[in-house]
Amino acid sequence: MSDWKFDLVPAPAPGTKAQGNVVWGDPLLTGWDWPYVAIRGAEPGPAVLVTAGIHGSEYPAIDGAVRLGAALDPMSIRGQVLCLPLMNPEAFWRRAAYVVPTDGLNLNRAFPGKADGSFSERLAWQLVQKAIRHADAYIDMHGGDLPEALVPFAIYQETGITAVDAKSDMMARAFGLPSLLIQQSTGGPASGMTLAAAANLGVPAVIVEDGGAGQYDPRIAAAMSTGAQNVLRGLGVLDGGPPDLASPNRYTRFLWQRSRNAGFFRQSVSVGQFVSVGEKIGGLNDFFNCEIEEIVAVAPGQILFLITSPAIPENGLICGIGLSS
Ligand SMILES: [Zn+2]
Repeated sequence: MSDWKFDLVPAPAPGTKAQGNVVWGDPLLTGWDWPYVAIRGAEPGPAVLVTAGIHGSEYPAIDGAVRLGAALDPMSIRGQVLCLPLMNPEAFWRRAAYVVPTDGLNLNRAFPGKADGSFSERLAWQLVQKAIRHADAYIDMHGGDLPEALVPFAIYQETGITAVDAKSDMMARAFGLPSLLIQQSTGGPASGMTLAAAANLGVPAVIVEDGGAGQYDPRIAAAMSTGAQNVLRGLGVLDGGPPDLASPNRYTRFLWQRSRNAGFFRQSVSVGQFVSVGEKIGGLNDFFNCEIEEIVAVAPGQILFLITSPAIPENGLICGIGLSS
């Protein structure tokens, strides 16, 4: 009898590690390689899922997960870790932002997915059914996508179940990022995220974000691997005692600001900056050096992400502001 939890991949023997490419068991989900590393401790313990590359151009997160899978020694962990560093390979190989090119959907808006849906919906469904729902804890690693800069932050979604929320909070603080957004179960700027699917199943989960704007930074990748290992210490998968728990800036609302018009965006603020109501974030300009729209902060808070590409479409995303209330 195997106590290996993640049906998605074959069970490694206790005290061993296995690697390969996922076979999803859905004829539509082929044509790309989805690498995995499965680490099974000799001793029982929690089952932890780690994903990255849900957005395929968030490079430090992808490499952070690769480094994590390589760093974990099955003889020194309790429990099991399944590491999937490249969940959206088509976006990675095509250098695409936000979406899975084949169906144009944002994979991190497609959860919990559909068994008979489009490519992204089926991919989300398989991940939920064969991995997320069996996890005792889930870490989903991200960053700013190709046209976005961000300051490092974590997000978890409240479930209303005290023990689950406390574990998500611990995971976020153990990872060690300076800002933390606590998302309510409804009313956020985006639905269909991995952490929402996990929260709805009562699985403690955190999204961690670092790096961005199409840059690969090995220091950030290494820090993300270290952050994930600190979460594993907090969960008792790794030894080493309790990690230092950070006291991040805490935000309870995430406000995304969009443009009305299309235009060339000239920013007036830096990512990470604290803004007050009415403070200018930037201007949209035409190609005759005329400002056609001024974008000002509609609430006070910290700019957690900011678009770096000046090419802004109508109703284009400009920034996300973390608000304290
Ligand atoms: Zn992302």
